Amino acid sequence: MKIKPTAESTPAENGVDDYTQSLLDFLFAPQGKHPPAGSAEDIAGLLADARASERTRPIVSLFSRLETLRRSHGTAPDAFGISRGDLSALAEKHRRIDEHGVTIGGRVLQALPIVSEANRRAKDYTAENAVSAPSGIELWDTIQENILRIQKVLGMDPQNWDTFSGQLQNCIDRVDTLARIVRLPEQTVAEIARVTRTYRMRLTPYYASLIQAGRTNDPILLQSVPTREMVDNVGVEIPPVAADHSPARLIDQFYPRVVTIKATNMCAMFCTHCLRIAHIGRKDRIYSQSAYDEALDYIRCNPLIRDVLITGGDAFVLPNHMIRHLLAALDDIEHVRIKRLGTRIPVTAPQRVDPELLEILAASNDRKPLRVVTQINTAQEITPVSRTAFKSLSKAVSAVLNQAVLLKGVNDSRVKMWKLCETIQESYVRPYYVFNCSYRNPQFAHFRVPVEKGRDIVESMYGNISGDAIPRYIATAGGKIPLHRDNVVEFRDQTVILKKPWSGETAAYPDADPDVYAEPKFAFDR
Ligand SMILES: *Cc1c(COP(=O)(O)O)cnc(C)c1O
Ligand code: SF4
Repeated sequence: MKIKPTAESTPAENGVDDYTQSLLDFLFAPQGKHPPAGSAEDIAGLLADARASERTRPIVSLFSRLETLRRSHGTAPDAFGISRGDLSALAEKHRRIDEHGVTIGGRVLQALPIVSEANRRAKDYTAENAVSAPSGIELWDTIQENILRIQKVLGMDPQNWDTFSGQLQNCIDRVDTLARIVRLPEQTVAEIARVTRTYRMRLTPYYASLIQAGRTNDPILLQSVPTREMVDNVGVEIPPVAADHSPARLIDQFYPRVVTIKATNMCAMFCTHCLRIAHIGRKDRIYSQSAYDEALDYIRCNPLIRDVLITGGDAFVLPNHMIRHLLAALDDIEHVRIKRLGTRIPVTAPQRVDPELLEILAASNDRKPLRVVTQINTAQEITPVSRTAFKSLSKAVSAVLNQAVLLKGVNDSRVKMWKLCETIQESYVRPYYVFNCSYRNPQFAHFRVPVEKGRDIVESMYGNISGDAIPRYIATAGGKIPLHRDNVVEFRDQTVILKKPWSGETAAYPDADPDVYAEPKFAFDR
């Protein structure tokens, strides 16, 4: 409840602030009723604590309880033999103890209701996230059972499991292997067999261990196993980005000063929603030295380029010596100031993040900032293993950023998206982008989520989760274009009317005075 300080309040009890005055007026309003049964002992105990203690909390407890009793039963403090003077003395003590001079009225009438209201907004999330959007950390017990079972089926030992080569050599690329690992209905198996004649399937045994048995549309399964829609949806392909954005071999560019090098077409797994489905093509390809040389030459000869993103496929598919070579070549180019590596491997095969790789990344980061850009789409993809990989990466490089894709059934609800963003933040990864799933490839039309739905989800994060866990919502259409809703409702004279995304309430925000801003002489130059 909110009580506005009023002019008719009893004249200030020496130094009592308006909020406290209102609280006392409310408590001692006329016609107090009898106390409800059992409350007298309660209040006597709270009063004794409040008097004895040199802490604020017992005082807050007493006033809160009295406020509730007045509101729900109409009982005034004098029904317990507590006078207005008694409470004023405690109010004064509260203000004296509090470092910031916060008064009991401000705390009980303003601050506590604001906190309750804020918590109410997150109530659904708090209540259901562990059930409806569990992380791989929360599911770790079941995942460990899956790991043991998969090791047995594939004949892998734990040592082999813990290496990247073991993960690659035991990749699941046949439907019969998949069916031995995950219980799937016969009809589904037949369907996957049909679809994988057209689309390659590949998932690492580790990634397969994240699949939760008995869930029809498990988000891990959805992202890694092709479904019939991919064949049924075929339509007119829109040419891949490279067709009109590749000014040189391996290079894509449509921005000033930023380029990507598509250094490989390989990935540790094939995502069913992959934008680069056309590049991944029919088979893995090793690029020639001359291709890398030409790409590096393009960068060397273009002094405007300052940010280079090495991607693929997946940059961590490249062997360590190749990553070292490419990063060193970029570090040697004076005008290149920052680098990024695009990889999903810490999610699909975290075993790849070995000490040698970390050392290479740290050495390059030491010369010029290096960031790792990854793709995590659901909290289920974060396990203690991938979290450890991200922790080591975050120590080696200057930032680990996530680009998620908004996918139907995977992360298209508030609870799932909040959980994803919070879980990765707790795993040393900064949410960077959420992409609305592209229109370019008809194969995954069934994964697309309407733009407006994505806006609801992203907007729901403002004011409800840590600001640095909120990604930017982006459409890819010849460059990355923000899709956020405008929270500026109106410019009125020199005031901007803003909308609070979490409540829809408006807030008036006085703008900078244009005349003051136009004044050329200021500060030390007056
Ligand atoms: C995504 C992308 C970039 C980087 O964009 P940022 O907004 O800086 O992350 C640069 N070039 C190409 C071709 C891209 O696809
Ligand atoms: S890791 Fe990236 S490039 Fe590779 S298949 Fe997945 S989305 Fe495509």
